[in-house]
Amino acid sequence: MAERIGIFGGTFDPIHVGHLVAAVNVRHQLQLDNVVLMVANIPWQKAGARRVSPAQDRFDMVRAAVGCVPGLEAGRTEIDRGGPSYTADTVAEMARLHPGAELFVIVGWDVSAELGTWERLGEVRDLASLVVVNRPGTPAPSGLWQQGWRVEEVTVPNLDISSTDLRARAADGRPLDYLIPEPAVRVIRERGLYAVSG
Ligand code: ATP
Ligand code: MG
Repeated sequence: MAERIGIFGGTFDPIHVGHLVAAVNVRHQLQLDNVVLMVANIPWQKAGARRVSPAQDRFDMVRAAVGCVPGLEAGRTEIDRGGPSYTADTVAEMARLHPGAELFVIVGWDVSAELGTWERLGEVRDLASLVVVNRPGTPAPSGLWQQGWRVEEVTVPNLDISSTDLRARAADGRPLDYLIPEPAVRVIRERGLYAVSG
């Protein structure tokens, strides 16, 4: 059987259990060999709007959070490529590195509503299936089939957690425990990420 690889892109600023619970449940339901949590180098849709933490810090948090959970992996392809991160480039690179593999691009409901803004969307659609996971606070998407996607819907536990809220919590000194895996919380503490002065 062909290798089945999930690509779950994000800024992961910081990673949280909402990301991880989605990743493991998609992997299970779609019987993927691997889900790569692909850390955006420059999240061009967010850059400018707010201060984004250095890519290496975000990658280290993801790697720490993933630990040795089977089938999950922190991806640094976009960081190594440099520049703004476009999923079209990432999917093309994964297709080249894994000839014959089936690729699945995983997005939450909020992101699925913004696909129209992606660069070279058609290239992503040609090379990968789209996996959509529920996320509280945003409506379910509609019409993705009509836009020509091969779509898989995966229902995951509803976790109303966002990196935006976690950055505010960290800045206020509120607890991050159990919302972010402990090893990633340690990276935040050691490097003073999200402190108000930082
Ligand atoms: P921010 O608040 O900074 O936008 P975020 O929590 O949305 O952060 P991202 O890195 O933007 O995290 O999201 C990466 C991917 O993870 C997106 O596809 C997003 O929809 C999905 N995602 C994030 N949080 C959840 C969650 N709680 N449940 C399901 N999917 C999620
Ligand atoms: Mg987001």
